[in-house]
Amino acid sequence: MDKTVRTRFAPSPTGFMHIGNLRTGLYAYLFARKNGGKFILRIEDTDRERMVDGAIEMVYRTLATAGIDYDEGPDRDGGVGPYIQSDRMSLYREYAEKLVELGGAYYCFCTKERLEGLQDENGTHTYDKHCRNLSKEEVAARLAAGEPYVIRQKVPEHVVSSYEDMVFGEISVSSDDIEDGILLKSDGMPTYNFANVVDDHLMGITHVIRGTEYLSSTPKYNLIYDAFGWERPRYMHLPPIMKDATRKLSKRFGDANFEDFVAKGYLPQAIVNYIALLGWCPKDNREKMTMEEMTEEFDVSGISTSSSIFDEAKMRWLNGEYLKAMTEEEFYKVSAPYIAASKVGGKYDEAEIARLMQTRVDILSEIPDKIAFLDDFGEYDLGMYVHQKMKVDLNVAKQAVKVSIDAIKDLDVWNEESIKDAVKAAAEAAGMKSGQVMFSMRVALTGQPSTPGGAIEMAVVLGKEESLRRLEFSQEMLARA
Ligand code: GLU
Repeated sequence: MDKTVRTRFAPSPTGFMHIGNLRTGLYAYLFARKNGGKFILRIEDTDRERMVDGAIEMVYRTLATAGIDYDEGPDRDGGVGPYIQSDRMSLYREYAEKLVELGGAYYCFCTKERLEGLQDENGTHTYDKHCRNLSKEEVAARLAAGEPYVIRQKVPEHVVSSYEDMVFGEISVSSDDIEDGILLKSDGMPTYNFANVVDDHLMGITHVIRGTEYLSSTPKYNLIYDAFGWERPRYMHLPPIMKDATRKLSKRFGDANFEDFVAKGYLPQAIVNYIALLGWCPKDNREKMTMEEMTEEFDVSGISTSSSIFDEAKMRWLNGEYLKAMTEEEFYKVSAPYIAASKVGGKYDEAEIARLMQTRVDILSEIPDKIAFLDDFGEYDLGMYVHQKMKVDLNVAKQAVKVSIDAIKDLDVWNEESIKDAVKAAAEAAGMKSGQVMFSMRVALTGQPSTPGGAIEMAVVLGKEESLRRLEFSQEMLARA
């Protein structure tokens, strides 16, 4: 590529950042990084009615958390700002007027009533080009008289506007199917149709990467580039991400919000990794990749033209892989807030709990439930001791619990190895199978049908004092049976 690549992410602050938006930003970022280019953040806030408070801050937060770092943006000047559209109003007016002079646009004074009269039975209308050929003098006079106006695109007649999309190939539209749409509204606000062209040009964007909803309107935007005599950028349109076979993910319906997933206990890097795979696949089909690896591998040829379905179960699995691959310290660090916020926070050795959980959860928010047994201990159903295959019944259990109490009560060193050795030796001395003792001991320690680990792991987490207290409690329950 001869020019420095410049890509941009242009979110509208109209709500939270759903996975589909973020993927667009991610691909634009990866493409820029891969090609040694620059990645720009632009805030598209001209749709004032749909603006949501706090949404701009959310964009910054999301990108920072996701590790998608931009070179230029509202808070990082690269010399082609402002990077927030509402701060660029005078530019849009200036360029709209320039386009009128160049013959690519015209003033339109049609009233609302007149336009409503053009509506068909579906309530839509195509502008009939009523003001397209007003004389210069008439326009000047009406402007001087202060008549309200909009500026419309003067779409050339009977031409075919084509371009080569990097993902979808050739896209052609007959200009006769393109309306003379509004570029500048009567309140001076630009439409998206105009602002995206002016901004992408002035910001030196070389590759426009965005959703397929813009695929077929791009020929119309290209006619604006042509009318200005500007070089067109290249385009990469991305297929949608679906919720299921028929519905797109959508921020209007609160689907798949990045920050919600983080709050639910997903690691940002796992979410980012997962969404990278929604519509793109590296040559070697690898799934777990760091940002650096994705940057290295990213290539347009791996982008699919068909939509992908957002599969939370798959993302969960991938998140679990990230958790398992962490060092013990890293896992402790990310899990500590979940342990601290659970009912057992502060009561047990949290590093031990973390060790127990690392291979047993896919997302961090599973932790509180999985360790609830540490807190909930009281009368339980003795039927849990009955295990036919292991030949355990209440009598065997009674014996096994006594064996475990005897085994551990004088232990000085409290860790997996020491407890296991002691219990095994005691089982052998009592002529019992160690499996029978371990099974009964686990029930006696927790009163739960299933736990995230066996007797020894439970004892380590509970600590000696609490383990003995529980075993004795269970011994009494069994004695009453
Ligand atoms: N603000 C537009 C959106 O959020 C961006 C489209 C584009 O990237 O050009 O859909």
